[in-house]
Amino acid sequence: FPEALTDFLQGLNDVQRQAVLATEGPVMVLAGAGSGKTRVITYRIAHLIRNVGVLPQNILALTFTNKAAGEMRQRIDSILEYGSASSLWIGTFHSVFARLLRSYIHLIGYDRNFSIFDADDSKSLIKQCMKELNLSPETLPVNLVHSAISKAKNSFVLPPEFHRKAIDDQSQKISLVYERYVHKLRENNALDFDDLLIKPIELFTEQPRVLEQLQDYFKYLLIDEYQDTNRVQYLVAKMIAEKHRNIFVVGDDAQSIYSWRGADISNILNFNDDYGDAQVFKLVDNYRSTKTILDAANSVISRNTHQIKKELVANAGMGEPITLIEAFNEKREAEKVAEHIKSIRLSKGAQYRSFAVFYRTNAQSRVIEDMMRQNRIPYKIFGSVSFYKRKEIKDAVAYMRLVLNDRDSESLLRVINFPPRKIGDVSINKLKEFAEERNISLYEAVKRAGEGGFQARLVNALTQFTDLIEAMRKQAEEGTAYDVLSMLYETTGLLSLLKEENTPEALARHENLQELLSMTRDFADHNPNSATLGDFLSTISLASDYDETQESDNYVSLMTVHAAKGLEFPVVFVTGMEEKLFPLNSYEPGELEEERRLFYVAITRAREKLFLSWAQSRYMYGQPQMCMRSTFINEINPNIIVTEGGRKLSESPKKVAATAMAGRPVFGSSLRPQPGGSPAAKVPTVKPAGSARPTGAAKSEYRPGTRVQHAIFGPGTVLEVQGSGAKQKVKINFRTAGEKTLMVQYANLKIV
Ligand code: ATP
Ligand code: MG
Repeated sequence: FPEALTDFLQGLNDVQRQAVLATEGPVMVLAGAGSGKTRVITYRIAHLIRNVGVLPQNILALTFTNKAAGEMRQRIDSILEYGSASSLWIGTFHSVFARLLRSYIHLIGYDRNFSIFDADDSKSLIKQCMKELNLSPETLPVNLVHSAISKAKNSFVLPPEFHRKAIDDQSQKISLVYERYVHKLRENNALDFDDLLIKPIELFTEQPRVLEQLQDYFKYLLIDEYQDTNRVQYLVAKMIAEKHRNIFVVGDDAQSIYSWRGADISNILNFNDDYGDAQVFKLVDNYRSTKTILDAANSVISRNTHQIKKELVANAGMGEPITLIEAFNEKREAEKVAEHIKSIRLSKGAQYRSFAVFYRTNAQSRVIEDMMRQNRIPYKIFGSVSFYKRKEIKDAVAYMRLVLNDRDSESLLRVINFPPRKIGDVSINKLKEFAEERNISLYEAVKRAGEGGFQARLVNALTQFTDLIEAMRKQAEEGTAYDVLSMLYETTGLLSLLKEENTPEALARHENLQELLSMTRDFADHNPNSATLGDFLSTISLASDYDETQESDNYVSLMTVHAAKGLEFPVVFVTGMEEKLFPLNSYEPGELEEERRLFYVAITRAREKLFLSWAQSRYMYGQPQMCMRSTFINEINPNIIVTEGGRKLSESPKKVAATAMAGRPVFGSSLRPQPGGSPAAKVPTVKPAGSARPTGAAKSEYRPGTRVQHAIFGPGTVLEVQGSGAKQKVKINFRTAGEKTLMVQYANLKIV
C-alpha cells in the first residue's frame, strides 16, 4: 500500500499492524488486557475501508456492549475523517441480529413486526404457561424456570432435546413449560432476547439461500471479547464466516468472566480446530497501565492454573504505588473513596470522569451512592439500575409507604399480589369499582371486601394482606423502620423465597433486600431519636431523586467489575476487597479462578492509579459482620502497595502478621523481594529504639516477669527462661496470643 494510505497505521506497533494487514482468512489475536485488541479491530476496519476498498456495509463487527459499539464507530469516523462508519454493521450480537431478523423472519413464519420480549415479559408468559399446566409457582419458581430456559437456549438446546435430557421431576416440568412457552411466543409473534440469537440459526438452516446471501454480504466479520461468547453466538458466527472465512476474533482467556451466563471459553481455545490455517497474533505491549499496575495484574493472574500463559509488558513507567484503603466499616470505606476523589481532583486538576469505582456485587453500590451524594460528587451507575430503582427495593419500599399512608394506592397495587397471593387483575378491578362506588380508598375497600360480596377465598387472602399491613403499622408506631422491615421479611418469607430460587438473579435480589435491611438498621443506630418509618422514607425518597438531576457528562462511573470489561479509567477504586465478597465464591477451584480473572479485569482497567479498599466490618444480613481482608491482596507484591499513610505494605507489621498467621505464603517465590527469602524471613523486625535494647545484647536480662513486646504477638510477660546462649528459649504469656515458647535469637523481642 502506498505510504500515504497507511500513515494512520503508524498508531500501531509492529504486531498490531501485522494483525491489521492480515485481512484475508481466519485470524485470532490472543492477548492480555490493554494490549490494544480493540484498537486493532478499529484500525482493521478503517484499513479495510480505506485501503482494501471494502464497502462499509460489507463489514460486520460484534462487540460486547452497545457502549463499546458506539465508541468504535466514533473512532473509525475520526480515523477516516469522513462519516463512512454510518453504514457499517457494528453492534452487539443481539442488536445486529434483531435488525437482520426484521428483514428475513417472515421466511420462517413470523411477521416482520415481531415484538421483542424483555425479561419481565418473558416471565409473565412463563407464568401463564405454568398456570395452564397447573404448575404452581410456589413449588416451581418462575425465575428458576426462566433461567433454566434461557440457559438451554444459549446452549442451543431446544425443547425436543431438553425433553430427552430431562430425567428428574423438576426438569421434566420445566421441559413442559419450555415447549409451551416457545409455542406461545410464536402465537404472540414475539421473540425473547435469546431468540434473537437462536432464530438466525433456524433461519440459516431452513433457508440456506438466505445464509448464502448474508455470507456474501458480510465478507468481513470481526468479534471483540471473543472469550465471553456462548455456544449460540459461536454457531451463528461460524455460519456467517463459513464461505469467505474472513473471521477476525480478539480475546483474552484471562478475562473470561461470564461462564455463569453460558460463556464458553472453549470457543477461543478451539479456534485453531475450526480454522486450521488460522493466523494467531500475540500482543505483549500494554499501552494502558503503569508498570506498577501491570505487575499487580500479572502476579495475580499467574496464580491461575487454567490459562494460556501470556506475557504483558508495560510501556509506561512505574507510576504511583497502589494505595490500600483500610476502613473500619463500609461507610467509612465509601467516605474515604470520596475523600480521595476530591483530593486528587484538587491536587491534579482531574475531572470527575477520570474516576471509576468498582464493586463485586450490586448491593454494595448503595453506600457508595449515598456517600457520593453527601459529598456532592456527580456519579452515574453503569450496567445496572440505581439501587433505589431496583424492582425488589421498590417493592419493599412500597410496603413501607403503604404502612405509612394507606391512601397510597400506587404502592398498594404494587404489593397486593407480591409475593403471590392469588389476587388477580379481575379481582383488583372489582375492588377498584367497589372503592369508587363507596367513595373510599382502595385500601379501605380491600379491608372491607367482606361487605362487597366477593368470594370467600379472595376475602381471606385480602384479610391476610391487611392484617400484615396493620401489624406493620403497629410495629411502626412503637419501633423503627428496621423493625417494620424485619417484620415484612419474616411474615412474607420474601428472603427465603429468593434464596430457594437460587438463580443468580434471585440471589442478587436477595442481597439487595438484605442491603435495605442493613440500611434501616444503620439508620436506627445513627439516628436514635428520629429513626421512625417516616424519617427513613423521607431520607430515601430524596436519595432516589438524585439520579435525575445529573445532566453533564462529567461524572464518576460506578459499576460492577463485570460491567467494566473493555473500559479504562485514569483512576480506579476497587472496593470491598474482603474474603467472601471478593472473592465472592471460592468453594471450588474453578470458582476461585473465575473470581481471580474478575480481579484481573478490575486491576487492568486502571491507567495511572489504583486504589484497593476494604472494610473491617460491613453490614450484611442486617448485622455488622467482621470481615477479613481479601487474600487477593496478598497475591500482589507488598512492595508496590502503600497504606494511606504512605507506608509500604511490606513494612507494615500488622498486615504481614495477619497473613503469616493465616499460614499463607505472603508472596510468590518468583516475585519475592529478597531472592530466596521465605515468608518467615519477611516478618519485620522491630527496630530497637530509645532505651529498649535488642535481646541479643542482653540475654541474661530475661527472667520471669520481664515484660516484652513481639512484632506479631504484641505485649507479653516472660514466664520461664530455658537454656542460654544461642539456644536460649523463653516461654512468654502474650496478652492476646496466649502462651508461646520462642527462641530468643530469632524472636526479636523488645524488652519494655
Ligand atoms: P481489554 O483487554 O481491556 O479490552 P484491549 O486489548 O482491547 O484491552 P485497547 O482498549 O484496545 O486494549 O487498548 C488499551 C489502550 O492502549 C487504549 O487507550 C488504546 O488506545 C491504547 N493503545 C493500544 N495500542 C496502542 C499503540 N500502539 N500506541 C498507542 N496507544 C495504544
Ligand atoms: Mg478491548
